[in-house]
Amino acid sequence: MNHPATYRDRRVVVLGLARSGVSVAKVFHALGAEVIVNDKKERELCPEADELTALGISVLCGYHPDDLVTNETALLVKNPGIPYSASPVRQAEAHGVEIVTEVEVAYWLSAAPIIGITGSNGKTTTTTWIGELLAGAGRNPIVAGNIGIPLCEAAAEATKDDWIVAELSSFQLKGTSAFRPRIALLLNVVETHLDYHGGMEDYVASKAKLFDNQTADDVAVLNWDDATCRAIADHLTAKLLPFSLYVRLDKGICIEPPFERGKDSDQEHMIVWRKEDGTEQAILPVSALGLPGRHNAGNALAAIAACLAAGVAPEAMLPALQGFRGVEHRLEYAGEFNGVNYYNDSKATNPTATTMSVGSLSAPIILIAGGLDRGSDYMELLPVFRDRLKGLVTLGETRSKLAKVAELAGLTNVRLVEPEEDAESTLRRAVREAAGLAEPGDIVLLSPACASWDMFTSFEDRGRIFKESAHTL
Ligand code: ADP
Repeated sequence: MNHPATYRDRRVVVLGLARSGVSVAKVFHALGAEVIVNDKKERELCPEADELTALGISVLCGYHPDDLVTNETALLVKNPGIPYSASPVRQAEAHGVEIVTEVEVAYWLSAAPIIGITGSNGKTTTTTWIGELLAGAGRNPIVAGNIGIPLCEAAAEATKDDWIVAELSSFQLKGTSAFRPRIALLLNVVETHLDYHGGMEDYVASKAKLFDNQTADDVAVLNWDDATCRAIADHLTAKLLPFSLYVRLDKGICIEPPFERGKDSDQEHMIVWRKEDGTEQAILPVSALGLPGRHNAGNALAAIAACLAAGVAPEAMLPALQGFRGVEHRLEYAGEFNGVNYYNDSKATNPTATTMSVGSLSAPIILIAGGLDRGSDYMELLPVFRDRLKGLVTLGETRSKLAKVAELAGLTNVRLVEPEEDAESTLRRAVREAAGLAEPGDIVLLSPACASWDMFTSFEDRGRIFKESAHTL
């Protein structure tokens, strides 16, 4: 696409309302485009529509019209969650109309450089952490995207002295063409969202789009412990800044001594920055970071790399490296009840995330897991179930699959929770079952390894109900 101002007097279709659709529609309307917004949800379920109709923007709710996208349409801006099989997207393809997501629009609008963060796991934590690190160092971060304010809103407000710090999903990146982040981070890649992408190849290609338009003035931060990230390094134009927990890097951000895979460590590990000129600088020990767990140490290395690339001195990062306490629903401590500690990790929506979280806690764990069935067999969880769990409570569509993995792992304390009259009662029962298996000193961890949409409207909803249940056992 081109700058949004070039769509004056031309038709732009915005597919999908929500906060991002509203902000895109307002941007194009303000610049004189003829904007049509369409959402399949019934009008009563689209309160955001009022604000747009008041501005004189056409909003069509409840269905996708057959002639929504025509030869007259100059651009389709698609909500990232809407699949490419949706009829308006097909119409756009048939008419050769360009399809983009809000990220592309935001890129054209923004006067501020963008730090774009993607990966299968750890995006929100790392994005939030980068925001805190930059703010702590006296910079002006605007945290936007899936968290914070909609990207377009941030982009419209930002000045060249700000930094837009944007969490980006593969769905969003798939709909970009010229998008160029000044600093781009790929945290890790594991199999997830295959239903949307139709396979790993499209998923990885979408993530890799983050680097496609970067120039030699830009920086690419890549996880050197992840084979997919390393492979992307071969195709970069940007300067590479790798990070690693397991490899002693010549250049980049790593730890000294490196961790050994599959082995716990009680040694001190120092985070070091090995610079281009061959010198190195110690930053702080991993044990001083505000968040526990190796995965969070990896997130910290990525966040440090991004801030170094933005010109922040390591000393200026220390308070926020030590003081950051994480984000709600990510290994969030939910309190102690009857001597048992409860953790809410509702955002762990794939087996890798759950493996990481279980591995970060040391007391005996009763895990509550299960949710939307995306077709995986969950065998990846077998070693965790065998070596790390005291008990498992499963619920949701994947409950039988997870119980099967537990059986193969030789776990005997397993409770399968059948659906009750509503999702809340089912989760409450699961928490009671877990409490029944736990003894003082143990941990009850909700880390579902699955998305929430089989039972709940969101992972936030699931996490909140979990916390309330623990508080009212
Ligand atoms: P995202 O935004 O990518 O979903 P979050 O920061 O919200 O990631 O973290 C979601 C969950 O993923 C956390 O609760 C934790 O279990 C796990 N996690 C976080 N960081 C990592 C990482 N770097 N590698 C693997 N798992 C991680």
